Amino acid sequence: MIPKLVTFDCAGTLVEVPPGWTLGQFAVDCANHIGLTVGEAAAETYQSLYMARIMEFVHVNMARDTALQTSFWTRLATDWLTAIQMPTDRLVEMQDAADELGFGPNSIVFSLYDDVVECLDRLEAMGVQLAVISNWDYSLHRVLRMFGLYERFVVVTASLEEGVEKPDPRLFEITLSRAGFEPKDVLHVGDDPVDDIQGAEAAGIRSIKIDRSVVVSEYPVIKSLLDLPEALAWTA
Ligand SMILES: [Mg+2]
Repeated sequence: MIPKLVTFDCAGTLVEVPPGWTLGQFAVDCANHIGLTVGEAAAETYQSLYMARIMEFVHVNMARDTALQTSFWTRLATDWLTAIQMPTDRLVEMQDAADELGFGPNSIVFSLYDDVVECLDRLEAMGVQLAVISNWDYSLHRVLRMFGLYERFVVVTASLEEGVEKPDPRLFEITLSRAGFEPKDVLHVGDDPVDDIQGAEAAGIRSIKIDRSVVVSEYPVIKSLLDLPEALAWTA
């Protein structure tokens, strides 16, 4: 039976993030972009400041409040510039750089895998609905928008907004409840054997793993999302 809803993981499945990427390194990249000479050690400083506020960041995500989000990043960047003895009056430029380098057309962080759009096109042509279930912060919505994909998904679930993350089956259950589907009508696709495959199984949902390093698509792993439409029959 062809599923009525296909849910996708994001990082490593739809969107590629450079291996080893950290927020701290990104802060350094943004600083260098606006002409501040900032060394690699500053990345660790940023990372430490961020980790010290991780519980606040969880709260900011769950509150879904734009003002709180802006305030969080502004204070973090200000404290970081102060800690590394850089001028805090460059803050607005830093934020513009973060917008450009993070979410602009030439993002250095996010890129879309080249098999995504055709896969979604073909699934939609089959009458299959689409959703995203991701361990991600509230910026998940923005990232999907920057690739022009957001409106294609009936539900987009970001773990940090829900306060629960994969492989916890509750993140799958929340998504299915919002989309209005039963587990038997759903198939999940993701690259992580625990978060995606075990998580979906715990929620009673079929799954297919995407692994672009394998040579051939063979149950239950596909080498490309282009093989997903045919692979839906695997789990019939
Ligand atoms: Mg992933």
